[in-house]
Amino acid sequence: MTLRLWNSLDKKLVDLDPVIPGEVRMYNCGPTVYSDPHIGNFRSFLMGDLLRRVIDQRGFKTTHVVNITDVGHLTTDDVADASGEDKLEKEAREQGIDPFEIARKYEEVFHTNARQLNFRLAHEYPRATDHIPEMIEMIEKLIERGHAYEVEGVGVYFRVHSFEKYGCLSGNTLENLESGSRIAVDDRKESPHDFALWKIDEKHLMQWDSPWGRGFPGWHIECSAMSYKYLGGTFDIHTGGEDNVFPHHECEIAQSVGAGVGEFARIWMHARHLLVDGRKMAKSEGTFFTIKDLIERGFQGYEIRYSLISNHYRQPMNFTLEGLEGEAKAVSRLRVLREKLETVADEDFGRDQELLESLDSTRQAFDACIDDDLNLSGALGVLHERTRLLGRELPRGVAAGDALEFLRHCDEILGVLFVEEVVAEDTLSGEQQSWIDQREAARENREWDLADSLRDQLKEAGILVEDGPDGPTWTRIR
Ligand SMILES: [Zn+2]
Repeated sequence: MTLRLWNSLDKKLVDLDPVIPGEVRMYNCGPTVYSDPHIGNFRSFLMGDLLRRVIDQRGFKTTHVVNITDVGHLTTDDVADASGEDKLEKEAREQGIDPFEIARKYEEVFHTNARQLNFRLAHEYPRATDHIPEMIEMIEKLIERGHAYEVEGVGVYFRVHSFEKYGCLSGNTLENLESGSRIAVDDRKESPHDFALWKIDEKHLMQWDSPWGRGFPGWHIECSAMSYKYLGGTFDIHTGGEDNVFPHHECEIAQSVGAGVGEFARIWMHARHLLVDGRKMAKSEGTFFTIKDLIERGFQGYEIRYSLISNHYRQPMNFTLEGLEGEAKAVSRLRVLREKLETVADEDFGRDQELLESLDSTRQAFDACIDDDLNLSGALGVLHERTRLLGRELPRGVAAGDALEFLRHCDEILGVLFVEEVVAEDTLSGEQQSWIDQREAARENREWDLADSLRDQLKEAGILVEDGPDGPTWTRIR
């Protein structure tokens, strides 16, 4: 069987046929580390993780790179609109903290969330700010080849008219852009659609020397420079969210191909938007959730993971808390079955040939769904149907070890059955939070014994509770 993937570049399903036989090199556009990532960001990161797991399971050698954007990503994505502010810079000014501190803090949050959602570790997590020389080198190549030009005192721009294939990914060709736009012409640029590779800005809190003056790099050049460094000029798969298609990925193609380093990514994959309660996520409407928010509501990381992977990545997903509760129940049924199987797995009941064969055909059906452009909803359908039967067969204790093997195989992709709860340093599990709440209620009702026993219970779990004028505070003691 071959893994088939929808290539957003060619707009068709293609077989994964790696540039180097037996080896897959993949780049996932990672987080911009200026705030807690939301569940929409994680839906797209999870598509990268699923792909990684499938590629591993199919026996390829993998090189998996997830970048950390810690400079240059502006609050407005529009290349023609120069009013955008660096997201990190903005956050740093508002919080009155050094932007590097913001970057490291939210990079840590990203890694914590990724652990909670049981991500397989990528091989590299390059930071943009650690790769300024590589970006400068690529910009120099682009200038040399006529694809970029310097505007003195302003910076360096990519000359979009020099790149014939501009628009090949997004459909935003220059012809289409020019007919549809009424944007103010910036006379320092040759075309309003030229985008910045380097911005001279001596007031920017993060700045570096460059041949064109002190300043900072554009967001798009980082991914071209870092993917080249870690994966070479031609590699297999590049992923991101659908909001990355334009301008970010379109500009990456122009830069990497323009710099003459290779063909760039052969397959492009994009996860569709996530809506909450049928609407765009918005803090003002209460439809904005981070991973931390959901964990504080008592959900486990593997439940959130299950929810976010259970829809096909190319379908828009509508997230609701009720939906998540249902999905948590579905994954819990599978985990209960796993536990039951584990308790009888060591007993020798002999092997049931019929069961073995039927498990094998179910495994093939599961794999076929996965190989069909990561059809997770189909694969989960196959799994649930089979496990209902397994639940009935279980009392006979027949071939529990084989059934467990089957679940393990599926879970190499799903990552939700054989994983325990991961608790972040600064987050309580739902259960621990409920103990604190119960203790507060007990104190209000003057049930001191109950309150004390809950305090001991928390201490046992490594949480020290102290009562202050604003209510209880907690610290982790181990
Ligand atoms: Zn990127």
